[in-house]
Amino acid sequence: MPRSVLLSGGCGFVGSHLVDRLLRRGDLERLVVVDNLWTGLRDNIAHVADPRFSLRIADAESFSDSQAFDEIIHLASPASPVWYMREPARTIRANIGGALNLLSMLRPGGRFCFASTSEVYGDPLVSPQPENYRGSVDCTGPRSSYDESKRCTEALLFEEQRVRGLDVRVVRLFNTYGPRTRIDDGRAVSNFVSQALTTGILTVYGDGLQSRSWGYVDDIVDGLERFFWRDSISHRGPLNLGNNSEISVLDIAKFVSSLVPGSRIEHHAPVPQDPTNRCPDLTLARQVLPGWEATTSYQDGIRRTFEWFKHQIAAGGKSAATG
Ligand code: NAD
Ligand code: UDP
Repeated sequence: MPRSVLLSGGCGFVGSHLVDRLLRRGDLERLVVVDNLWTGLRDNIAHVADPRFSLRIADAESFSDSQAFDEIIHLASPASPVWYMREPARTIRANIGGALNLLSMLRPGGRFCFASTSEVYGDPLVSPQPENYRGSVDCTGPRSSYDESKRCTEALLFEEQRVRGLDVRVVRLFNTYGPRTRIDDGRAVSNFVSQALTTGILTVYGDGLQSRSWGYVDDIVDGLERFFWRDSISHRGPLNLGNNSEISVLDIAKFVSSLVPGSRIEHHAPVPQDPTNRCPDLTLARQVLPGWEATTSYQDGIRRTFEWFKHQIAAGGKSAATG
């Protein structure tokens, strides 16, 4: 059956990769991307020339369309702490306001997919984090606009499922990196790579012993594709998606630095309430998506990201890395 799909945040890092996957679908009749270009870039989808595709520059929370959609995928939200901490109200509007508005555009019986985050676990007290871990989030802390708006949007969707049987799919993405991240995005891998290629000084916040589980975008988008539309599954989420090899920030910085002789690491003040650790428990993901695994090592993924950034910077990428 031909399907019409609405994707919010499709000019962003993850969203633009999802656009490429969606356009491979034989049953896709229409793909509308709504994006306000806050953190996303038109360049990320400049290669798309498909008559089924259209881009609407608008806020997810106020966008409207004359037709309802069979599937809605809600990604509109900054994911970089640098960006969401700068505009907390706008972050809350994108996530919660976006979900409330987009829900009204879903045709009866349609499916609503949402990219939540490992941030719902806050600074976790258990490791790895299974989906039933309720987290350790400070609702008045500096990351709260992001953490709490993701948690509230999850609440909205699961309540809509409980009360009126809405078909939802909710993933909790762990740190994802790769090509098409902005040069001035500010997240660890993209920042280290662009810093290594420009100033030669990699800024590690604190001692760098805090850890994350770094997922290469192709692996993560494989999981999203399978969970959002490809595999026939009854589980609605939440579902962790990520790479469960946990590596310290300092080791990531050292590896990036090793790619550019002469570059060096500089330690800066720690970031307030920076989570000390993060690692997905993938037991459920392996059951729900048999055969899916994030297999790209951080060394391979970072080398690929590095090559992409090198070309971008050589081609005149304007913005500086965040120092
Ligand atoms: P990104 O910042 O690159 O992309 C977000 C996109 O949403 C951008 O194109 C931006 O312009 C758009 N946007 C923001 N607010 C909007 C609004 N109100 N209306 C319309 N468009 C809006 O971030 P990303 O890394 O691609 O993340 C995509 C999604 O995945 C986000 O919801 C994020 O919370 C989630 N996520 C990402 C990661 C990660 O590591 N990349 C981890 C956990 C969750
Ligand atoms: N980080 C860092 N230097 C940077 C950017 C990030 O040391 O230039 C650290 C940051 O403090 C955190 C980790 O890297 O401990 C991951 O940060 P990121 O912003 O990528 O994601 P998040 O904090 O949301 O997991």
